[in-house]
Amino acid sequence: PVDRKPEIQEARLKLPILAEEQIIMEKINENHVVLIAGETGSGKTTQVPQFLYEAGYARDGKMIGITEPRRVAAISMAKRVGEELNLSCDDVSYLIRFEGNVTPTTKIKFMTDGVLLKEVQSDFLLNKYSVIILDEAHERSVYTDILMGLLSRVVILRNKRGIPLKLIIMSATLKVEDFTENTRLFKIPPPVIKVESRQFPVTVHFNKRTNPDYLKEAYRKTCKIHTQLPDGGILIFLTGQQEVNTLVSKLRKAFPFRKVNKTIDKPDDQDKEKEDEEDELNLDRVMQKVKKKKKETPLSLPEINLDNYDVAPNDDTEMDILESDEEPDEEDWELEGMKVSNAQPLWVLPLYSVLPSREQAKVFQEPPEGCRLCVVATNVAETSLTIPGVKYVVDSGKVKTKLYDKITGVSGFAITWTSKAAADQRAGRAGRTSPGHCYRLYSSAVFNDEFEGWTVPEMQRRPVDELVLQMKSLGIQRVVNFPFPSSPDLAQLKSAEQRLTYLGALERTPKKKGDDGWVGKLTPLGEAMAKFPVAPRFAKMLCLSHQHNLMEYTITLVAALSIQELLLNDNESQNKSRNKRLCWAGQGNSKLLGDAMVLLRSVGAAEYANSCGKLEEFCSEHKIRLKGIIEARKIRIQLTNEINLLNPELNLPVDPKLKPPTDIQAKLLRQIVLSGMLDQVARKVDEPQESTVKQRPLYHTPLLDETVQVHSSSVLYKEYPEWIVYQEIYQTNKVYLRGITAIEPEWLPVFAKSLCRVGVPME
Ligand code: ADP
Ligand code: MG
Repeated sequence: PVDRKPEIQEARLKLPILAEEQIIMEKINENHVVLIAGETGSGKTTQVPQFLYEAGYARDGKMIGITEPRRVAAISMAKRVGEELNLSCDDVSYLIRFEGNVTPTTKIKFMTDGVLLKEVQSDFLLNKYSVIILDEAHERSVYTDILMGLLSRVVILRNKRGIPLKLIIMSATLKVEDFTENTRLFKIPPPVIKVESRQFPVTVHFNKRTNPDYLKEAYRKTCKIHTQLPDGGILIFLTGQQEVNTLVSKLRKAFPFRKVNKTIDKPDDQDKEKEDEEDELNLDRVMQKVKKKKKETPLSLPEINLDNYDVAPNDDTEMDILESDEEPDEEDWELEGMKVSNAQPLWVLPLYSVLPSREQAKVFQEPPEGCRLCVVATNVAETSLTIPGVKYVVDSGKVKTKLYDKITGVSGFAITWTSKAAADQRAGRAGRTSPGHCYRLYSSAVFNDEFEGWTVPEMQRRPVDELVLQMKSLGIQRVVNFPFPSSPDLAQLKSAEQRLTYLGALERTPKKKGDDGWVGKLTPLGEAMAKFPVAPRFAKMLCLSHQHNLMEYTITLVAALSIQELLLNDNESQNKSRNKRLCWAGQGNSKLLGDAMVLLRSVGAAEYANSCGKLEEFCSEHKIRLKGIIEARKIRIQLTNEINLLNPELNLPVDPKLKPPTDIQAKLLRQIVLSGMLDQVARKVDEPQESTVKQRPLYHTPLLDETVQVHSSSVLYKEYPEWIVYQEIYQTNKVYLRGITAIEPEWLPVFAKSLCRVGVPME
């Protein structure tokens, strides 16, 4: 007996999926696994759990579980479904890492896919659930993909035991062959229910030119839409939180919100945003000096008709004028702001995954009278959340993805073009309630030539070391045989197992006949490593730090190692002088036996300087990237929290006045660095070199046939210790080793020594 409010009922009736309720429930009752494919906004996430609830799937103490790849979606959908069912958050709850409101009476539980994967580890049959919905399966997140493989088996086991479990896979695209035509995954292809939805036509407009500064381009375009085009919400797609916040504040400045009457609040995330932007404020101050130097050239913009550059561009003139200012500098922001100051106010809201849920909820509310809604979002708004009333989409075409270098094992975030499919999803957001327009901030040529058709599943893009470790800790020995929707390639799996074996996470199992040898079981160390939410090499370093009060240092070091280009290495002498003068809590450097220690000292000293209010001076004096220090701090806090959660008795603080390590601790830290990089040991080549050529010593590494030099950015450049570990192999016109730590040969296990005795590549 559900008692919905009339206005909710009315809104529900407009959703295309409601017409399919009977079919959907029939299919679910008749099949163990069902696929539901339907356009974003058709009502899958909010309605299917309610269908199940009304059909009695939450009876007998069992729950309806829904996984989301994004936290934002888990939180906001739990709230919405609770409202629609007129139930409290005790009954319709959510659980994400670190946060949740699940109770013993929870009936419908939204969670991130990572959370459910953890639950599988402690209760493989997921006995608490009567049905699991894997939502947003088209996103192909690693965890959703693994869950699909696992659940394909759990469903069979549960049915054998007479306690059936239903699996529902929901996708916003019709491209579901990877699931339905994969007989290893599902022997009998599951039925697919397609939800037809009303979609109004969206006119797509490409830019004639692709301005690399898409943030400013987005600003310009939004200003134009707002000042020149009829009513209708604007949705802007950017790549990350910082970009979103920057654009939000610029737009708010350009079109200030004026209180119509006193009962309407200002967007009250402004307070929160101050917190968010604290980092940026510091930076702004640094940048202000630079800004002031630039001369103010007044620039007036031509009147641009937004519809003049259409799908098939053939007239360059107008966009040329727009793009002609080659290097748009800071003044651009202000200038356009002034030009449009008499426009109606814009109700600008940010939307990204770590935004507090109270703020997220605002995008669903009506903007105040007389305001146009403008949501600046990351790709969470692509399919996870449907924002009402959007008529204009501004698409940067960009997405932030984690890239992985197969050779060096180093990963980092990169901003790349999204896929054609994703860009079309974004465009579709403009046609939910009326015909709309999508303004792509890139040319049709770029779209055609540089965008991939579909986004490659995360599984095939990412390091699988971590995944293999996780799966082994679930008891899955032969990861190769696991029924992934799309398997990572065999070479990737093998090299991951090999690296994990070197790290001591997997047993070195002797090769048996007819065995490919890749069945290594998890060691106790591996078990412990699997618990840490970081890359296995860092996890190992953390595991070994539970001694001599090293944990805080290792956390700080791992945070520093995770940041790209923390130190600005302009030239050798600057590096030298930094290393000489780098002073942490009054202590200078006695000896820096490697770049890891320089990083640790840089962060430690910077935080110390910060606690004395001198962070900026410190960073500019020592050529340290201020933003990098702030990022490192965030990672440090996050890691500390997670480790405290895993190990409550540790109760680690994040000490802003952390003292430098003692000499003994520093030596242990080098051993810990080595322990995480055992497969990246290098040894100096000892053949004498031709004396005529002034050459730097060369090193043998396990991965390369050729010998390589140490990069000049290293603190150990020109010191040339015999044995080192390196963080990465770095390639410009030459190949170098970077991130060097000196080690003692007696610390090395035999296998690691043999790896690079004569430069033999690893198997
Ligand atoms: P799908 O999962 O198929 O993409 P959803 O179930 O997420 O669709 O959305 C269905 C409708 O519910 C959309 O029109 C969306 O705007 C609306 N909706 C979702 N969450 C909220 C909310 N918190 N407040 C108001 N409307 C919402
Ligand atoms: Mg959805």
